[in-house]
Amino acid sequence: MRVTVLGSAAGGGFPQWNCACPNCSGIRAGTLRSQARSQAQVVVSPNAGECFLLNASPDLRTQILSRPFLGPAYPPRHTPIAGVLLTSADVDSVAGLLHLREFQPFHIYTTQSVRRIVCEENRIFRVLDRAKPPVVWHDVPLNAWLPLGTVKLSTGELPVRYRLVPLGSTYPDYVSEDLRQSLPPGEAVVGLVLGQGSKQLFYAPAIPGLSEEWKRWAQSSDLCLLDGTFWDENELISAGVGSKTAREIGHIPLSGAGGLLKEFDSAKRVRRVLIHINNTNPILDKQSAEHREVRDAGWEIAYDGMDLDL
Ligand SMILES: [Zn+2]
Repeated sequence: MRVTVLGSAAGGGFPQWNCACPNCSGIRAGTLRSQARSQAQVVVSPNAGECFLLNASPDLRTQILSRPFLGPAYPPRHTPIAGVLLTSADVDSVAGLLHLREFQPFHIYTTQSVRRIVCEENRIFRVLDRAKPPVVWHDVPLNAWLPLGTVKLSTGELPVRYRLVPLGSTYPDYVSEDLRQSLPPGEAVVGLVLGQGSKQLFYAPAIPGLSEEWKRWAQSSDLCLLDGTFWDENELISAGVGSKTAREIGHIPLSGAGGLLKEFDSAKRVRRVLIHINNTNPILDKQSAEHREVRDAGWEIAYDGMDLDL
């Protein structure tokens, strides 16, 4: 399975249009040793001619155009993108669905709650129904292996399976109180496990830290792309750009007690990559002590255009 990082930053990207934090200012001025990043987006290509997007970022159009293998293979209209798997109803996860609205059929796999938020409360997404046949939403149960794939496999190609792992957390603040009350909390934010043959990928760009479930799947996988949003619990407050802690907005930080580095440090066999990196995070600066600490601990830091083979 080919795994391609099309975007590696958290919401807002890097630099963020209205942010003058040291990182964003430094990359604009050309004084920071780093590289610009678009908002988190991953695509997996398990077999020839078919790929699946993991979430649909607000930068999706340019991200698709950046990689020729995602272009149409024949006229007049075609896409190798067979489907999208959604981990939440956050704007960063679903806004890109509007980029896919050009009368193109495909499949969307997510929890029933995320589907209800997107379809019932946000009428603009009904543009996806105009495709012939319309885009198909799949209400996916938690904790169950299901087959993924829509094409007939050639000799030597292996089927793909996937499952949604509940990670706790809350629904986005734009969801109406009425709908929120009717939704089960376990369907708000999920991690994705994709398996093909003996290989396994775990994708969790948001780890709220409210359950331990993610660790089991991370440790049993060959490749993990995990929540690298914040270095410090109080990062937004210290930077003067927010009033909430990392955990209050659904992300365990990398550092400190209960942080990702301490919680998942012993898995030598697992290839561990940090993604969804907020523009305030000091690991973006290649000359920082925090960048060095992460690398010394065996983690990789995702960048736009990163190719990973599984
Ligand atoms: Zn910034």
